[in-house]
Amino acid sequence: MATTAPHTIDTDALVIGAGPVGLFQAFQLGLQGIACHLVDALPHVGGQCTELYADKPIYDIPGIPVCTGRELVERLQQQLAPFPPHYHLNQSVEALQACADGRWSVRTNTGTHWHANTVFIAAGVGAFVPRSLPIEGLAPHMKRQIWFGSQPLPDFSGQHLLITGDGDSALQCGLDALEAAASVTLMHRREQFSAEPARVQAFQAAQASGRVRFVAGQPTALVTDGERLSALHYLNAEGQELTQPCDHLIMALGLTPKLGPVAQWGLQIERKQVVVNTETFATSAPGIFAVGDINTYPGKKKLILCGFHEATLAAFGAAAHLWPQDKTLLQYTTTSRTLHKRLGLI
Ligand SMILES: Cc1cc2nc3c(=O)[nH]c(=O)nc-3n(C[C@H](O)[C@H](O)[C@H](O)COP(=O)(O)OP(=O)(O)OC[C@H]3O[C@@H](n4cnc5c(N)ncnc54)[C@H](O)[C@@H]3O)c2cc1C
Repeated sequence: MATTAPHTIDTDALVIGAGPVGLFQAFQLGLQGIACHLVDALPHVGGQCTELYADKPIYDIPGIPVCTGRELVERLQQQLAPFPPHYHLNQSVEALQACADGRWSVRTNTGTHWHANTVFIAAGVGAFVPRSLPIEGLAPHMKRQIWFGSQPLPDFSGQHLLITGDGDSALQCGLDALEAAASVTLMHRREQFSAEPARVQAFQAAQASGRVRFVAGQPTALVTDGERLSALHYLNAEGQELTQPCDHLIMALGLTPKLGPVAQWGLQIERKQVVVNTETFATSAPGIFAVGDINTYPGKKKLILCGFHEATLAAFGAAAHLWPQDKTLLQYTTTSRTLHKRLGLI
């Protein structure tokens, strides 16, 4: 269930990042009897598994000889069903600060605000943001004449459209605009696409019928007419600088991970990763844990299996942090009545 609350939400646990490790973290917290909120910058859960290799096979998840990235995420969600977290998708955690009472104040770019007793940073390689062209002067034209392909696009009726990119989103943007736009041109450094075969076929059919044009080139600079974007300079394969006129430019270049605000949260960081102890995967700040690709320690391996182990010990660490007077017992899901109750089995 997606929630966005203008008020402050009190929670025992907040998980930042709904990748495979963040999802399993929520499950392990559930086994410990700790309810949690789960926040992710993307509009869907699954992190790298969904974003980067949804249809590719994974062979090294224990007990699952082979599954795709998407299937693994579906299975993690099924496993998490007894402990439904409060999901907050499409928003990125920007600020994390200590409260005077030992809790953590956490805020997203859309204004959701928590007071959390424990925080789990499962932010992977960072929040995924759309990739930009490496040219100057884009900012004043953004959301006027320059757009990211991954974001909602306006009506391009009667407009001359230039799209940069070679993936599914670039090709689909071109196909979607065919009917309305005055012209559609796709630019990439060479005429090879890294997209689903069916989409490439549809694009090539549109190209053959003259409804879309392909230009091989590397963008070098924007051309403006007063405040208005009028064209793009680019280098062709022979190294000549040419100009492609356009009313709108769509950058459909995929997503890139950006560590972003995590680096500013006052935690001990080494080479863009959060330093943890390997007993509980606690960071340098009490009550804050870091699991999965975001953390570092001697021997760290960025594998899903390792993230699952880290999340398990971090959940034990959180229970000890929340209830220091109680002994945190190891219980088996096979035999423990307490865990069966928590799992909704009895
Ligand atoms: C092509 C490829 C193939 C791979 N194959 C395998 C394999 O076969 N086996 C294997 O074990 N591993 C594999 N990996 C590695 C594996 O995908 C990672 O180890 C795993 O995804 C790490 O999980 P995570 O949950 O820590 O991070 P991620 O999957 O990176 O998820 C982190 C999530 O946090 C979110 N986030 C980040 N910052 C913020 C913020 N400030 N606010 C809100 N949300 C935020 C991101 O949007 C993202 O959804 C592969 C990786 C790639 C790229």
